[in-house]
Amino acid sequence: MTSRIFNFGAGPGVLPESVLEEAQRDLVVLPGVGMSVMEISHRSKTFDEIIGGCEVDIRKLANISSDYQILFLQGGASLQFSMVPMNLLPAGGKADYIVTGSWGKKAVKEAQKVGTVQIAATTEPDFTRVPAVSELKLDPSATYVHFTSNETIQGVEWKREPETGSVPLVCDASSDIFSRPIDVAKYGLIYAGAQKNLGPSGVTLVILRTDLLERVPKNLAMMLDYKVQAENKSLYNTPPVFGVYIMRLVMKWLLGQGGLEGMAHANGEKAKLLYNAIDSSGGYYRPHARAADRSNMNVTFRLPSEELEKKFVSEAKAVKLDGLKGHRSVGGIRASIYNAFPKAGVEALVDFMKRFQTTNG
Ligand SMILES: *Cc1c(COP(=O)(O)O)cnc(C)c1O
Repeated sequence: MTSRIFNFGAGPGVLPESVLEEAQRDLVVLPGVGMSVMEISHRSKTFDEIIGGCEVDIRKLANISSDYQILFLQGGASLQFSMVPMNLLPAGGKADYIVTGSWGKKAVKEAQKVGTVQIAATTEPDFTRVPAVSELKLDPSATYVHFTSNETIQGVEWKREPETGSVPLVCDASSDIFSRPIDVAKYGLIYAGAQKNLGPSGVTLVILRTDLLERVPKNLAMMLDYKVQAENKSLYNTPPVFGVYIMRLVMKWLLGQGGLEGMAHANGEKAKLLYNAIDSSGGYYRPHARAADRSNMNVTFRLPSEELEKKFVSEAKAVKLDGLKGHRSVGGIRASIYNAFPKAGVEALVDFMKRFQTTNG
């Protein structure tokens, strides 16, 4: 196979083709440098410009004020499940967690190893929706409130963030970051593994309000300490140079697509096409998430039987629509249509769904 297929994979997800082409063109010799980006020093002026430029573009994209730190860390979003409470949950303190899916549950499990976790709301076991405001039991004395803006496995997305008053809001935004405008000023901390909407795996973006660094306890391991990472501008140790370089190219691409407004428009159109196909199938395709809370990034649905789901996934793959198998914990179909996923791929899937229903209905 030599041509690109449509990659509906949930993560690592699709990257913009123009970014891959630029990286390929410059891989062996970065123009003006005479080495590959993978060979340069992370203390060089060249890398300084890459990571600095990436930060500038991130700030521009999401209109992030100088009250916030931008960190490029490692260990994935999964390490943030631990770093958030290690840094921000003091001994004797309590943190509120709102759980709307599998990733939120994992975040709770790690935080419980560090301190007292209160479940402010959960939509277990079905995870088909986000809780209503009236269901939230928020503790005004909590040190922070954690939620997952988009549950990648269930396909459940908050259309706006919960209101937490003066309690800092902490968000795992791994699978919908920069898919739409975000009011960063409402958050204390936002984190995201890069491999869904930002770049390759191996980099984790953390956007952190600087005053929260005052809470960081002494004697944390250096690598797990937000303060150390902030003071060293993410260069305490060797950062994921190649990942940051690709992220820089993706941020430039995002700005060229009309920024987050442009992305939201394109993502809305793609999701609408797919949900319309599901909703107009006469119940043949059954959506997992409640209509008001369904994700514009991960579209989850079932077919009349598991046999048909298997057949659907394998026949789709044969026509170059790959990565549609739902997560093993929920089954069914999941079409991940991240920022870089082209509309033509969604149109191809919708056509395929119609044909499949006609022959297997
Ligand atoms: C993928 C994902 C994670 C895990 O990310 P890693 O970078 O693999 O640790 C956590 N949260 C959400 C919402 C995700 O989509």
